[in-house]
Amino acid sequence: MSNQLIERQEARLAALYEVSSQLGKTLDLGEVLNQVMDSIIQLTGAERGFLMLYDNENGRLQTRAARNFDQETIEEDAVNISYTVIDRAVKSGEGILSSNAQEDARFSDQTSVVGYQLRSIMCAPLRVRGTTLGAVYVDNRLFSGVFEKDDLGLLVTFANQAAIAIENARLFTQTDQALARRVEELSLFQRIDQQLNRSLDLNQVLSLSLNWAIALTNAAGGSIGLFEELDSEDAEAAKLGTRQVLRLMVFRGEEDHSESRLVPLGHPIVRQIMQEKRSVLSRDVTAEESVDGTPANVQLAVPIVQEGEITGLITLETQQNVEINREDTAFVERLADRAAVAIKNAKLYEAIHAANKAKSDFISLVAHELRVPMTSIKGYTDLMNAGLAGPLSDQQKQFLEVIRRNLIRMSSLISDLSDINHIESGRMKFDRKPFDLREVVADVADSLRERITTRQQSLHIDIEDELPLVFADAARMGQVISNLMSNANKYTPEGGEIVVRAWPNGRSAYVSIQDNGLGISEEDQQKLFTQFFRAEDKAVREQPGWGLGLSIVRRMVEAQDGEITFESELGAGSTFTFTIPLAKMEGSG
Ligand code: ADP
Repeated sequence: MSNQLIERQEARLAALYEVSSQLGKTLDLGEVLNQVMDSIIQLTGAERGFLMLYDNENGRLQTRAARNFDQETIEEDAVNISYTVIDRAVKSGEGILSSNAQEDARFSDQTSVVGYQLRSIMCAPLRVRGTTLGAVYVDNRLFSGVFEKDDLGLLVTFANQAAIAIENARLFTQTDQALARRVEELSLFQRIDQQLNRSLDLNQVLSLSLNWAIALTNAAGGSIGLFEELDSEDAEAAKLGTRQVLRLMVFRGEEDHSESRLVPLGHPIVRQIMQEKRSVLSRDVTAEESVDGTPANVQLAVPIVQEGEITGLITLETQQNVEINREDTAFVERLADRAAVAIKNAKLYEAIHAANKAKSDFISLVAHELRVPMTSIKGYTDLMNAGLAGPLSDQQKQFLEVIRRNLIRMSSLISDLSDINHIESGRMKFDRKPFDLREVVADVADSLRERITTRQQSLHIDIEDELPLVFADAARMGQVISNLMSNANKYTPEGGEIVVRAWPNGRSAYVSIQDNGLGISEEDQQKLFTQFFRAEDKAVREQPGWGLGLSIVRRMVEAQDGEITFESELGAGSTFTFTIPLAKMEGSG
């Protein structure tokens, strides 16, 4: 080899080393492509160069970089390049060189070769791990810059390295985009979940789900419906000839539709979904063919599945040429899964609400129906007791006394049940005003005095002199104190002691009712305040009661911004303490 040749070879290798080391410095695909093209022009001395990559969507080669010798992007249409050359290179997987295309039998009849007067052309495929990504192409119109075989070798070597750099940048962009999409989707779903879970109103849940589905797929409209079985007497069922229907609950679109359209299960798209148990994408659907009666270019119907059963359907429509792609479908499917949970919760809530309402209506009815005859029983008993129906024997008097005691028990049960009913349904009104707790405690003590003395118990009332007025419903507070004092009386053996205390602390008044009676076992303490709970103890069961008092007390205290706590030891006694807000003192704002 002559010195000159060796020198040229060295210079080439140095240039190759130089440009190769630049590769991979960036992961931005556009930058990598321009860099590759510039390096190739620099290496080969070409006039211009083009880099083409296969398009993922349509599988065709697309020019992704077009550069000239001055490292500028060539704006003009790349029609003047020889596609025959490129085609051959990518198909054969080998580099192609034509030193004088004008006279090269392979290419001389090409319009680009003739028209653009191409002389020297080189092309190398961009291949990585057995896949062809595209090709690089350089050409030159001058005689002076004719490419040689060595130039092709250089181009092919560099193209192999460039292909790796391009693939890396492409993968990076893909993963980067996929990751960004995933993060975006996760945070979006977090927002959707929050919104959906916040609502227990079925219509709102459906509405929210549909809005999100439309917004995120750019659909023009859509609907959301739930499957149901109509009553056999339902007029709609007779009209449709079936009881199994999809009830479209919410509808969004340009035209207004009745919100509660019924679609029979025999509808072709609906039937297909029920059979295949997956989303169905239909094209060019007419109003009749469409699930929700909206003609559409594309209609996507996504089932809402709960525990393996299809319970509803989301439909989305696009007009003109707006597509719904696979990603959109996957997105709506994930949304449908979330909507399914929220729909289930909302339906459960509706059912509980309905059951509670039924229970509350029933109790109101029973309470009313019982009160009327009880009033008359009580009236006649009182008349007889007063001797207005003739004189009574001792035994008759005794029997009447039993009737009277039982009437009291019954009426206390009825009034407890009505109270609970009122509190639970939010119908209990609290007429909160400032009042003096001393008066209420004294009234309650008076009403219980007889029962306390019968059991030879002592009662101490200790209210701090500084206790200001409290802010609550005085009658309800009387009920709370009466319940707690009555318990102290009932569950303290004869000769026991009851102490009622009240003192101010911060913005509240504290009221405690202490006894040295039966006390409550640790196990029973857990169940205290639950409705109908009563200790098994014989001494407890001897006393009249239904186990509703404490639960009412707690609700009444809490409804008036107070709290109730207790301390108790079996056999030693109990102390129940509750708080009520103090009335704001004048001048204190
Ligand atoms: P009732 O008194 O009608 O049974 P409550 O709800 O007022 O209903 O009380 C529930 C249960 O709690 C009582 O049956 C009793 O077992 C226990 N209990 C309540 N207060 C006391 C108390 N002061 N001492 C001991 N046990 C009590």
